[in-house]
Amino acid sequence: MKMQELSARAFLAHLRRHPIPEIMDEECLAALANVEAQFGDTITHGAGLEVRLGNPDRFVDYVMCVDQDRIPSVKCIWYEIDYADFLRGGEISPCLFINTSDYKQEKTDKMDRGAGEENGTKQEAPLAPAMGKEFWDRVLPPFAGEKRATRLRGQLDRVLAMLPPDATIKQIGTMSSRGELDILRLVIIFRKWENVFAWLRDVGWPGDTQAMEQALSPWKESQSYAVNVDLGENGVLEKTGLEVFDRWRHPLIVDKFIARLEETGLCLPSKGAALRRWIRITPDGDPFIQTLISYFKLNYAKGRVTEAKAYLEQSPYIHHHYFSHYERPARLDMELADGKTVLPEERALARLRECKENRVSTIRFYGGENYEPLERILQVCRKEGLRSEIVLTRQKAPENAEGTGEQNLTPRLGRSWLEAMAATGADSFLVDMESETDGAALWAIAVLREQGADVRARWRMYAANAGKLAAVVKAADEAGAKELVVTGMKPSRHGGGKSPGCEQIATAAEWIKEYCERNGVAESTREKESPEAKLNENSAPQQDVMQIVVESCFSPLRAYLGGKDPKRNGNRGIERGCEAGCSFMVLRADESFAPCLYWPRKNADNAEGRQALTGLAAYWEHSPALQALRQNGENRVPCAGCCYERRCLPCQAWEESIPCGPCVENK
Ligand code: SF4
Ligand code: SF4
Repeated sequence: MKMQELSARAFLAHLRRHPIPEIMDEECLAALANVEAQFGDTITHGAGLEVRLGNPDRFVDYVMCVDQDRIPSVKCIWYEIDYADFLRGGEISPCLFINTSDYKQEKTDKMDRGAGEENGTKQEAPLAPAMGKEFWDRVLPPFAGEKRATRLRGQLDRVLAMLPPDATIKQIGTMSSRGELDILRLVIIFRKWENVFAWLRDVGWPGDTQAMEQALSPWKESQSYAVNVDLGENGVLEKTGLEVFDRWRHPLIVDKFIARLEETGLCLPSKGAALRRWIRITPDGDPFIQTLISYFKLNYAKGRVTEAKAYLEQSPYIHHHYFSHYERPARLDMELADGKTVLPEERALARLRECKENRVSTIRFYGGENYEPLERILQVCRKEGLRSEIVLTRQKAPENAEGTGEQNLTPRLGRSWLEAMAATGADSFLVDMESETDGAALWAIAVLREQGADVRARWRMYAANAGKLAAVVKAADEAGAKELVVTGMKPSRHGGGKSPGCEQIATAAEWIKEYCERNGVAESTREKESPEAKLNENSAPQQDVMQIVVESCFSPLRAYLGGKDPKRNGNRGIERGCEAGCSFMVLRADESFAPCLYWPRKNADNAEGRQALTGLAAYWEHSPALQALRQNGENRVPCAGCCYERRCLPCQAWEESIPCGPCVENK
């Protein structure tokens, strides 16, 4: 997974857009400005809040994961900033944690294992490799300080040697800012419940392990557990807590756990309600930010659970797909002219400003070939930091035109126009090519590449041309396209032909897989600018090798590429198929909004609704057409029984595609 480079400021802004007053009062929220003052520009791979669920006070400790280079072989360090520390203002001194899973194992490292393995019996695989001597030699002194590392090393080796094979160190931490200079926090994860207490007993934890097990037993039905203990010079100290992990990605499982905490008095109903809301916040599309609960922690002392905490997370990575759309469109498709109507320049500019205000990051322009203000529009995009893509659709060749591509294009789309557009700084071009001999499209791709522009070609597959895939790939590659977008099974403005059949789709999928393998390109069906592709390192094209991607509209081909087993098929979430109203929407040349350029006007919102929904955000949130679209895909009857049903979402603007031939045969 690719590291998303987001600053702490981006996470704080996201938090302010989604206030949780039951958990953070105004004073706490305002005090986060002190975190921003010190760490605002720091690249952060996730942020979080430590919430005391039973405490009526409404403040949190703030957690952030940042890059570091002080400790060798460890990429990130977690800061846990106490509320008192960031409330006070001035320099912040966080508690520090490192995840052992971040450790880049060196070739010379030998992995130590728990004592259980030494007797030669076959053991269940550990959750993560236990760290070896080399790890502690290399990491402990710079992390904990030479003195503390020397003092605690013997105890550390002793308690680690007693770990059973199902356990491993998850995290180590220092809390020097709390005055705890001589101890090390150990977070040890176990898969088996009984092993937690057996290990505590074996290492000489100074408490009653039986009483502890009994007090915590109502929370036994979880997937894994991580015990928190502090290690001092004389061994493990009494203070302890248990982190519980389950499928917290699933909202209903989280709801159930919160309800149990509320029943036992460990969570105030107001805080429980806030947690339920938090996990249901619709993610931001681009940059991607998802909210979740990382884990719950139950603190224990003297025979009872004394406190429950929840660790709320803002993650720049996709943890689950339980959402139907992004909070705002990641992209707006803007139709500048449709042959009859032209979008007035001032209206286009007003919508760009609206995009900026609503964090819509990409604008894809259609119909710009004969649109005089296009250069000025692109300049505004650049100034506002909006990513722009110009779509060059198929040009009708003038009667009796023949010869070079340039002659076949309308005058507006001549070399000088293409050069001017590239010079204006459009971020990319998407050139529709009809076939491997489409001279006009191939010429436009080559001219734009000469100018150093980022060019993608798009080709539509029918039953009649499906066998041309290899030839089209060769032609687009030779012309200089960086990416070939294969599309199909959606409406066309230029008429079209019959959809490809089952065997043709299967053959295309095999050919694409083989192409990726042959060229050392990681297989990906995502367009490289899509939010999910940006999160997936594997989708980055290798230099000089053209990437083949499948447009999300052509969902059956994406589904075929993923394979018949729904558990292994990665074609899931918003980008598994039709994305209209989920990740993007359209502004038509007549100034109306629509889910997609191909959306039938008869299915759009009625005139009254359109009048009420004139703002981009209002349309995105309240359009009945969009809301229905987000639901429809989940209940489509004609696909029932197809092995790709859960991994495919075909075009909803084109009835011909449902059910598609391939799927019927696969039932
Ligand atoms: S029947 Fe439906 S689910 Fe199956 S591949 Fe066709 S469109 Fe997709
Ligand atoms: S409705 Fe969906 S699948 Fe159909 S053309 Fe529009 S975006 Fe593509």
